[in-house]
Amino acid sequence: MTFVVVEAKYKQKFEHVFQLYSGGLIFINQEGIILEVNSKIESILQTERDELCGMNAFHLLDILKANLENKKEFIEELHQKGHAELFCDIQTFSGELKYIGIRVSKQKDADLYLTEVHDESEKMSMKKRLDHTESLSTLGQLAASIAHEIRNPMTSLKGFTQLLFTTANDEGKRYLSVINDEINRMEEILTEFLEVSKPTTHIFTKFEIKNLIQEVVNFMAPQALMQNINATINFEVDHTRKILGDRNLLKQVFINSIKNAIEAMSHGGNIYINISDMRDKPYVCISIEDQGYGIEEKVLERIFDPFFTTKAYGTGLGLSHINKVIGEHGGNIEVSSTVGKGTTFKFYLPLHNGNKPILTI
Ligand code: ADP
Ligand code: MG
Repeated sequence: MTFVVVEAKYKQKFEHVFQLYSGGLIFINQEGIILEVNSKIESILQTERDELCGMNAFHLLDILKANLENKKEFIEELHQKGHAELFCDIQTFSGELKYIGIRVSKQKDADLYLTEVHDESEKMSMKKRLDHTESLSTLGQLAASIAHEIRNPMTSLKGFTQLLFTTANDEGKRYLSVINDEINRMEEILTEFLEVSKPTTHIFTKFEIKNLIQEVVNFMAPQALMQNINATINFEVDHTRKILGDRNLLKQVFINSIKNAIEAMSHGGNIYINISDMRDKPYVCISIEDQGYGIEEKVLERIFDPFFTTKAYGTGLGLSHINKVIGEHGGNIEVSSTVGKGTTFKFYLPLHNGNKPILTI
């Protein structure tokens, strides 16, 4: 009986707040029973009003699997101050994981507790992403300085190996040449790594992008064929137009990109490379389309992060290097992907001298 009376009393009083309020609202009586919720609560908790009304509030938190570490302190604070706040992870009625903020305040004149609920999931995931990026860049800087430090002792190792070589017998020479090869390999790895993390000096020249792409495809074709992959190039460009860039760096960009495409196509298939002019802008667009496993949306956000990889033996440095080089050339990258179907990377590079044709010398 009291239930109905209280309900009528508060409903009249707070109806307009219910309609206007952007957060979730729950009215709870002295016994902890939920009397009313607004529609925002239905969308946050992914359930219907009827499921919630009449339920004990703590029972609701149990259903939501709320991890209340400070439940005791929370209740104490609520009694003492008349209001209290907490944040917790929950699982909604339809199973989605969310992070919510709950603020309960006692409504003296109505003998009710008003509970505000805010979905903080988006904010939380943004914070996590920021923390992640920060730790990545710190990690990257640390790794780069370690790589740099390793180079010096390696140079002396190399020097002494060569010195020993002059006096060693045949067996010794064999071992020393193995050591020498391994040092060279380590140096190559370090150079590749430092290229990603340090600014490099560029040699910019004017050249036709289609020749460069053709060279890259010829270079990658044997590796692709071994995995039953065919790479085809389609040119839609005016061959007299050139770009200004570092040929070697751009070559690495397209080698890395085609390598990623090959690695995504374990069952073979086609890689379509298209080079086209953009009619209204002085840019050339190189698109590399594969028929690989595609990239999930959550992964897509991170593929350009240094060290991010989904592969057992990946370095996660390919795309961050690509991003850096294309950026240094004043270009842009667009990625579109469908899981299970394939991925397309589009690289936009500015043409030299805008859209005025340049005479080939
Ligand atoms: P790595 O190849 O060493 O993993 P990259 O920086 O080249 O590092 O790529 C990062 C991640 O981006 C890969 O691990 C993969 O998950 C994803 N990726 C890149 N290119 C493709 C592609 N063509 N198809 C599917 N996933 C890709
Ligand atoms: Mg790669």
